[in-house]
Amino acid sequence: MQECLFCRVVSGEMGTELVHSSDHVVAFRDINPQAPVHILIIPKEHIESARGLTDKHADLAAEIFETAAHLAKANEVDRSGWRLVTNVGPDSGQTVHHLHFHLLGGRQLGWPPG
Ligand code: AMP
Ligand code: ZN
Repeated sequence: MQECLFCRVVSGEMGTELVHSSDHVVAFRDINPQAPVHILIIPKEHIESARGLTDKHADLAAEIFETAAHLAKANEVDRSGWRLVTNVGPDSGQTVHHLHFHLLGGRQLGWPPG
């Protein structure tokens, strides 16, 4: 069994329902949603956080942003607005050490974030 929770989501071990899947990226709903739309977008490749992204990931990074825009439309928050956020390290509250972007929308989001 793999140790990384999100690698297990990618392999299908967790039985997580995917809302999007491509050769390099998958997306699924957050188990503890913080907004009406709260989707996690992750690379299939295990990358610990945004800190691990390099120029070799340029296409992957672009695909993640394209996927976010696509899912925002599909979840009807394109016009109302949405946020894409990734946590890196202890002060950010990162709990899963496999790069993931939170797509949040469907309510007025506070700024600055807590
Ligand atoms: P972060 O705090 O940025 O590391 O975010 C990790 C996120 O993963 C949290 O919002 C959790 O609710 C979410 N999460 C943890 N386990 C699962 C799971 N099995 N399926 C979906 N989301 C999960
Ligand atoms: Zn992983």
